[in-house]
Amino acid sequence: MLQRLGTEQEWDIIVIGGGATGLGVAVDAASRGYKTVLVEQFDFAKGTSSRATKLVHGGVRYLAQGNIKLVMEALRERGYLLKNAPHLTTALPFVIPAYSLWDKFYYGIGLMVYDILSGTLSIGKTKVLSKKQAVQHLPGIEAAKLSGGILYYDGQFDDARLATELAKTAVQHGAAVVNYCKVTGLVKQDGKTCGVTVLDTVHNKPYQLKAKAVINATGVFTNAILNMDEPGQQNLVAPSQGVHLVVDKHFFPGKHAMMIPKTDDGRVLFAVPWHDKVVLGTTDTPVEHVEVEPKPLEEEIAFILHHANRYLAATINRGDVRSMFAGLRPLVKQRHAKKTSVLSRDHTILVSASNMVTVTGGKWTTYRRMAEDAVNHAATTTGLPAKPCITKTLPIGKQAKDGDTLVHGSVTLTRETIQYFVEEEMAIMLEDILARRTRVLFLNAAEALAQAQSTAATMAEILGKDEHWVTSQVTSFKALASQYQLKTD
Ligand SMILES: Cc1cc2nc3c(=O)[nH]c(=O)nc-3n(C[C@H](O)[C@H](O)[C@H](O)COP(=O)(O)OP(=O)(O)OC[C@H]3O[C@@H](n4cnc5c(N)ncnc54)[C@H](O)[C@@H]3O)c2cc1C
Repeated sequence: MLQRLGTEQEWDIIVIGGGATGLGVAVDAASRGYKTVLVEQFDFAKGTSSRATKLVHGGVRYLAQGNIKLVMEALRERGYLLKNAPHLTTALPFVIPAYSLWDKFYYGIGLMVYDILSGTLSIGKTKVLSKKQAVQHLPGIEAAKLSGGILYYDGQFDDARLATELAKTAVQHGAAVVNYCKVTGLVKQDGKTCGVTVLDTVHNKPYQLKAKAVINATGVFTNAILNMDEPGQQNLVAPSQGVHLVVDKHFFPGKHAMMIPKTDDGRVLFAVPWHDKVVLGTTDTPVEHVEVEPKPLEEEIAFILHHANRYLAATINRGDVRSMFAGLRPLVKQRHAKKTSVLSRDHTILVSASNMVTVTGGKWTTYRRMAEDAVNHAATTTGLPAKPCITKTLPIGKQAKDGDTLVHGSVTLTRETIQYFVEEEMAIMLEDILARRTRVLFLNAAEALAQAQSTAATMAEILGKDEHWVTSQVTSFKALASQYQLKTD
């Protein structure tokens, strides 16, 4: 694919960014038959798209805000994704704990409406639970004062795994999809964007790519690309940080997720079983600066522990946290919004005077719809021949059991698996394997550190790298992993 970067005279569509949105655009464009290339500056899903709560959801909280249109669209997309990637997604039962008759009534009605809105794509019926049933479903919960619960269904997935499978799907449909290639500038002719300059950071080799259409799908980096197009323009995206803490399953041993409907700052908080662990989160903290590896703030950690401990029978201490990770939401700025938590999660398409199409906002669940809209805009703006979108029913990844067998929590990686990640899934750096092809870093940072040396050594054998490469990979991975470990003193 790198060779193709050097030889193709002109692409139909260049996609900048290899997160959920960009990969969705590449799948959409390639499956319509457009000659497509995607460039990602780091690894696929290195940004926000590996740091989600892993829910394929309509967004119960947007229902409470009365945003029916957004909820219905997301529920439709949830239905498509569960059908198109059945081996990478699953329906997950959630329970909202209720502490009064009013709770049962209010959330019961709300969640029944949520299910009705999903129409024929419903994945399970909402039910009001007695106290006994609620405790059975949520074995880790503090039962005192509990009066029952509401059972409802949403979807769950592994975000980085889905991203990898989308990359492979785009390639199956003829796209070139490359990681570690950073867009360094836009190429213009007569005021119109007609390409990008790219640096392959692994081989330190520059390329110039030409295309009829350029789509900017760079999440919280959107403003930087917009500034390459038109320097000095107002920011479109306001990043907001969300943190997750990962703890052992024994704190919350059931199969059901718990949704806390109202935190002290009026948000929802989840406790979600994920692989052999439980993910707790998340927060919503506006941030000024975009960082590639955002750091959880002390107050965010304290907030999650405080709320989780309020609902659980056992107490989670800092030393119990196996991993923590932070992600930045690419929220579209609205002029009069004072807090990012009330900004819309809806996606935005912006077509600049130079014809560059920017697609941002939204959420993982709605990536397919965002991609469809972006490609439609790119085609009409640049005069590409109209071709229908086929992704509503397009299978994602090989329908073998890739997702199940390749996503590991706490197992030692075999040489065969490492070889597969390197040769079939473009894993280039040690962290690609320990953070995203598997999720060890996100599940248990200490365990990821324990596997670093042997994994790097095996990668080096496969890639023909030397001792020096192994040492530098392990050193940078150690620095990275230290940010996922919560200090106890
Ligand atoms: C804490 C949190 C929890 C969430 N939970 C959920 C959830 O449970 N369910 C859900 O549906 N959604 C969830 N979301 C939302 C969802 O994760 C995001 O909307 C989605 O991942 C954004 O994808 P993206 O592709 O737009 O951005 P990103 O994933 O950030 O991708 C943009 C990519 O562009 C690349 N890039 C930037 N500049 C350049 C350049 N110059 N050249 C090449 N590449 C470049 C970046 O490296 C990056 O990989 C959550 C978000 C957060 C923060």
